[in-house]
Amino acid sequence: AAPVAFMSGMSRAARNGVIVKSSGTLEQLARVRTVAFDKTGTLTYGKPRVTAVHTEGMAPAEMLALAAAVEQHSNHPLAAAVVDEARTGGGTVRAAQDITEIPANGVRGTVGGHTVVVGSARFVERETGRGTSQPWAGTTAVHVAVDGRYAGYVALADELRAETRATMASLHRAGVRTTMMLTGDGEHVARHIGAEAGIDDVRAELLPQDKVAAVRAAEPRPVMMVGDGVNDAPVLAAADVGVAMGARGSSAASESADVVITIDDVSRSARAVQIGHRTMRVAW
Ligand code: ADP
Ligand code: MG
Repeated sequence: AAPVAFMSGMSRAARNGVIVKSSGTLEQLARVRTVAFDKTGTLTYGKPRVTAVHTEGMAPAEMLALAAAVEQHSNHPLAAAVVDEARTGGGTVRAAQDITEIPANGVRGTVGGHTVVVGSARFVERETGRGTSQPWAGTTAVHVAVDGRYAGYVALADELRAETRATMASLHRAGVRTTMMLTGDGEHVARHIGAEAGIDDVRAELLPQDKVAAVRAAEPRPVMMVGDGVNDAPVLAAADVGVAMGARGSSAASESADVVITIDDVSRSARAVQIGHRTMRVAW
């Protein structure tokens, strides 16, 4: 191999907002056949907003207030949106005690003597021992249980990035066979967003360890994984090429990654593959 070609490939990549950590990674990029993406913050903007509050028995404003009281202690983007909605119109958020957050599941706490649990359908079903209501397919639900009884859900929508659909087409033109979405979100919303994005293979309701297993089992290889979140570090490390995206990307994710995309633009993942091809054409 000609070192000069690798040097110019890496500097071309850097000019495109793509930091490639080693020349071996450039070679791998040229061969990538499967690309897996995290959904929230990667395929979407990761700025969910509340679109509806559905309750069963309780006043919607009361359920929102209870949910916000525990969510104010979480850093999850869904939590921030629930708190913002509760504050809209000058509402104050009540105090909560005994907070426990279970990553990729939700949060539990005590508000004014009531036990409040918020999070995924599976997490809240375990709390109540019964099923949850299903929101419109395009929205993510944060389900709520109060004192062990199902109270309803807060529905949130997160917009697909403008460049996401075209990125899938570019990857296919660059020789990628399969695009995948790996998400902890519900099956309905995942399928809806997957179809909108033009993703080939959608995997929903995955815990962090399930995402790692999905990447390890993915075919054909090599597999590239693109993600932005704190919880994405293990899955980036499990991929043949791990790509951390975004100015807000956590340092844990960036450290586990082989490639860092320095701006919030998912199309740079396809650029990285194209630069890999170009470098390998001139490297031999
Ligand atoms: P993603 O795969 O989209 O990054 P996560 O793994 O972060 O999603 O979370 C998976 C699911 O767990 C969310 O869709 C949500 O239902 C639930 N969840 C996790 N944390 C919270 C939280 N703080 N508040 C509400 N729901 C949460
Ligand atoms: Mg995430």
